[in-house]
Amino acid sequence: MENIIKDIDIISPEEAQACDFKTTEEENTGKSKKLYIESYGCQMNFSDSEIVASIMKENGFDTTSDFEQADVIFLNTCSIREKAEQTVRNRLNHFNSVKKNKPELTIGVLGCMAERLKDKLLEEEKIVDVVVGPDAYRDLPNLVASAEEGNKGVNTFLSREETYADISPVRLNSNGVTAFISIMRGCDNMCSFCVVPFTRGRERSRDPHSIVNEAQELFEKGYREVTLLGQNVDSYKWSPEENNKARLNKKEGEVSKVVNFANLLEMVALIDPKLRIRFSTSHPKDITDEVLYTMKKYDNICKYIHLPVQSGNSRVLELMNRTYDREWYLDRVRAIRKILGEECGISSDMIAGFCTETEEEHQDTLTLMDIVKYDFSYMFYYSERPGTLAAKKFADDIPLEIKKRRLAEIIEKQNQLSLERNKLDIGKIQEILIEGTSKRSEAQLKGRNSANKVVIIPNDGLLQKGDYVQVRILDCSAATLFGEIAS
Ligand code: SAM
Ligand code: SF4
Repeated sequence: MENIIKDIDIISPEEAQACDFKTTEEENTGKSKKLYIESYGCQMNFSDSEIVASIMKENGFDTTSDFEQADVIFLNTCSIREKAEQTVRNRLNHFNSVKKNKPELTIGVLGCMAERLKDKLLEEEKIVDVVVGPDAYRDLPNLVASAEEGNKGVNTFLSREETYADISPVRLNSNGVTAFISIMRGCDNMCSFCVVPFTRGRERSRDPHSIVNEAQELFEKGYREVTLLGQNVDSYKWSPEENNKARLNKKEGEVSKVVNFANLLEMVALIDPKLRIRFSTSHPKDITDEVLYTMKKYDNICKYIHLPVQSGNSRVLELMNRTYDREWYLDRVRAIRKILGEECGISSDMIAGFCTETEEEHQDTLTLMDIVKYDFSYMFYYSERPGTLAAKKFADDIPLEIKKRRLAEIIEKQNQLSLERNKLDIGKIQEILIEGTSKRSEAQLKGRNSANKVVIIPNDGLLQKGDYVQVRILDCSAATLFGEIAS
């Protein structure tokens, strides 16, 4: 066992700020053209790329993993931090050299950066042919066809209703066991640091029947876990007459029926006890006891909640316009522990060095982390984004070195807590869902427990991905649990 335990993975502040990307895989179904997509940022963006691939597939494109083979290259972009946008610009420079040798290549920028910069992108990045925002993907085939005729095009129209409910996503980077399902789009919150409400528009919820159908089809294809995705899933609200949250709230008395997030969770949980359900992200102001009791009622709803706090100090939370304070947040954590117990996984997002944050206020984030004992966190230092409320109202006055030092302290704290939490699992028997072999060796299998922790077990040659198995946890690092099959 000793030799498969890796040292605690300590990430640096630079790595924390980095922006990962995923690419399309090779698919040859005999279509005449090839599409290559690079997707940056959050899971929502990866999910959107699956919708884009589906739309393009209907219009004569197979996907490729090699951009040199592509007729069309799309970059599905993220604007959340400056670093994410810089990564995309560097990538466009790289594709510039490819286009020099292949002038007929079409290059498109999709997603949040497209929405934020609109036609300015065409001026700033000369090689770009199409710029398409997150609500205009149905227009992609037309825009690409026009670009092939030499006409550059932009569509950044933000819809109040679009949810792509009828589009069956082409699964990209799939392990065949776990999949993501978008249940809503946009965000009506106005966190002062955040660019999302400007790039993804108003909050809309997708028809629950189309969500259940998608989950059912995935289950029939052998998938065993779905993650319901949205910027703020607990605020999911749908009625047959209205899917736009703001308009639905105004018309509440006039609509026939309202489905909330707890109702939706139950509908998906009832598909089959062998289909696990996860969801992300929960906003602390919206997560209700009804949701927690629904999680408790169904064994197949995983006991894990991503509940980003951002800061542990109430004054900073107010400046961030998060609409809850430290006490409210801790009360929600107490409710989770009371209803779902100590084993429920809780993770967070944290921002270090927000405008005017003092040393004492930064300490409040560290003490809150100690109280909650997060299993895991995504941690960042503040990056001012043009057009946001914070950029308009507050000076970005914490020097970069201080932001990085505070972030390093938050990361160190989280590593200690992750290890502490993982140690509590040693000796326990837990059910895991096998996702495949581990990255390091075919001799090990990788699965996840209900609390979303990665568990590595020896490969007995009998278990296959998609199987559930009871394991005894024997050891751990901060990032991983190690176990054996419990007979
Ligand atoms: N909707 C989710 C929520 O409210 O928790 C978060 C969505 S956002 C894509 C993911 C995370 O990026 C946020 O929770 C926040 O920690 C971080 N983030 C957003 N804007 C940021 C900024 N301007 N600087 C640094 N981090 C930021
Ligand atoms: Fe951004 Fe706040 Fe909406 Fe999350 S809830 S996407 S942080 S505005």
